[in-house]
Amino acid sequence: MNCIILFSAPAAGKGTISEYIEKKYNIDHISASDIIKAGLINHPEYETQINNCLSNGTLISDDILFELLKERLIIQKKDYIMDGTPRTIDQAVRYEKLLNELGINLLKVIYINVEKQIAQDRIINRLICENCGSVYNKKNDKIVDNKCNVCNSVLSKRKDDDLQIYDTRYNIFLEKTKPLIDYYDKKGLLYVVNNNSDIAEAYNQVDSILKEMI
Ligand SMILES: [Zn+2]
Repeated sequence: MNCIILFSAPAAGKGTISEYIEKKYNIDHISASDIIKAGLINHPEYETQINNCLSNGTLISDDILFELLKERLIIQKKDYIMDGTPRTIDQAVRYEKLLNELGINLLKVIYINVEKQIAQDRIINRLICENCGSVYNKKNDKIVDNKCNVCNSVLSKRKDDDLQIYDTRYNIFLEKTKPLIDYYDKKGLLYVVNNNSDIAEAYNQVDSILKEMI
């Protein structure tokens, strides 16, 4: 079984690209945030920590995160994309140990590169449908009466789509997560997808990285 790690700065298009890979290559998508949310059901003893993490955007402790992650990966049966972990070098080291323990092969690491200005622009123009989860861009998509094209619900901004919050998250990325580029490059596992223009262009780059997986 193989694992492909995806990481990026916030608002680089990681969610959209994960979804593309999941469908086209028929592999699972495991996100750290889903794992943490699932922890609320299976681990009432972590309720306070998990709720703090979900409401304030703070990070959960690595010990809890890796306990939940291990429980999820033990039952995993097919290749998957790992999204949202690791975010630090410490987590990368720990994740590799876990993969070794479970006999999972780290196949590739994809870094989605986006210019900060472009990511900020996406944040400013992003609208979401809270009812069905559709995501829109005010500049690029045709929106009528501020309503969702799929389910006709009223569109809104995401709570954390604010430039000041973005700046904080981006600085955390620079300090903690960006060093992963060098870390995985030295291991010969790093692939870069540039997502600064058309999303179709980014998909082409993904395809050339993953073509042997079809
Ligand atoms: Zn909708």
